[in-house]
Amino acid sequence: MARFDTKKLHAGYNPADHNYAVSVPIYATAAFELGTVARSDDLFAFDSWDPLYTRLSNPTTDVLEGRLVELHDATAAVSLASGMAAVSYSLLNVTAGSGRILTTPRLYGGALDSLTQVFRESNVEFDIVNDPDDVSSFERAIKPDTKVIYIESLTNPNATILDIEAIAEVAHKAGIPLIVDNTLATPYLLNPFEFGADIVVYSATKGLSGHGNVIAGVIIENNSFNFDSDKFPQFRDTPYFLRSQQGESRSYLDVFPDGPFTGRIRGIHLNYLGAALAPFSGYLVLLGLETLSERIQKQVDNAEKVVKYLESRIGKEVLWVKHPSAEGNKYKALAEKYFPKGAGGVLSFGLKGDIQQRTKFLEAVKVWGFQANIGDAKSLIINPSTTTHTELNPDLQNAADIQDETIRLSLGLEDVEDLIEDLQQAFEAAGL
Ligand SMILES: *Cc1c(COP(=O)(O)O)cnc(C)c1O
Repeated sequence: MARFDTKKLHAGYNPADHNYAVSVPIYATAAFELGTVARSDDLFAFDSWDPLYTRLSNPTTDVLEGRLVELHDATAAVSLASGMAAVSYSLLNVTAGSGRILTTPRLYGGALDSLTQVFRESNVEFDIVNDPDDVSSFERAIKPDTKVIYIESLTNPNATILDIEAIAEVAHKAGIPLIVDNTLATPYLLNPFEFGADIVVYSATKGLSGHGNVIAGVIIENNSFNFDSDKFPQFRDTPYFLRSQQGESRSYLDVFPDGPFTGRIRGIHLNYLGAALAPFSGYLVLLGLETLSERIQKQVDNAEKVVKYLESRIGKEVLWVKHPSAEGNKYKALAEKYFPKGAGGVLSFGLKGDIQQRTKFLEAVKVWGFQANIGDAKSLIINPSTTTHTELNPDLQNAADIQDETIRLSLGLEDVEDLIEDLQQAFEAAGL
């Protein structure tokens, strides 16, 4: 079995199946010839998994899905047009129109707000644990109709870490799955399946692709959770379109034995809500994946150096620094367990001064890009309270530990000395 860096270049692709093309071809086609009527019958009855229509699958995005499955030692995946589609489809799939989602305030701003804006409207409620750092607060917050625990492994902007293994135990004791958004970590730093996660979702827009050229998402499962349960009758459903060629009714569990969760998403959410990943976008993510380890490791190294620099400015321009590598950070022990290679390239710091100085500072940086993105090859800076997390009301911002003074950095691949000098000149330009 190949190792991680070999898989990120080769897994899921056999050139002999694609005219020996060295680079994964972009199958720019909406539909595929059905050939004979017998072949068509096989395709429509799920007796063949050959491509049929690109909204459902495509050979280019198939390679991406296969590669990510192997990088996680998982069993099935579905790629989607955005990270938000991955988050919302996985939560729609697990709740199926009733029950509750248990989560934390430390979520991607859009994911947290979607619970209010989308899920409430679909008859699904949510609960937010009081203290995500205290595993017993997850246990206490589980209600009889809670259907999932949804967390992020490493969070934006403050680089906090949750105890995935302990939270997975709480979920499994309650008979519900744990879904982990692993966007910031990427599989290079952490494979959540190793610690009990049942479903892993990504915004591939971020570190997975790393070049900031594409919007994409993916949902991965390892078939560890038994969805054949009274709590999740949707997987025992036998919709007419799943029937066999002989007309026997079949469930998602029957038709997708290695991946009922992503199988049902492909059959319903991708099929009928339609956020399909374009083959060209899938190709761009594949290109990015080839350099995943090298990029993420340099971003981690750069982040740790910038943390040291910012720490040297505490008491001057800087109020505090949040990253597991920072002095006295409360996530050091969890970082040792879950992030032995380093806890990612995103960090935050408190900027001294008033709102005018903050504005001057953000407008004075030259190397850092002022953007609502993370995980790019280019370093990025932003003030979350009025941008990436502006949809959160003051209570939720408070719970997410986001202050007006919070500045978020996402480290790229530049020379770190240039990044540090740029911060220093911007501090001065802001009169701090
Ligand atoms: C960006 C992001 C998302 C949403 O992804 P898009 O690709 O922008 O739709 C979800 N979760 C996390 C942690 C993110 O950073």
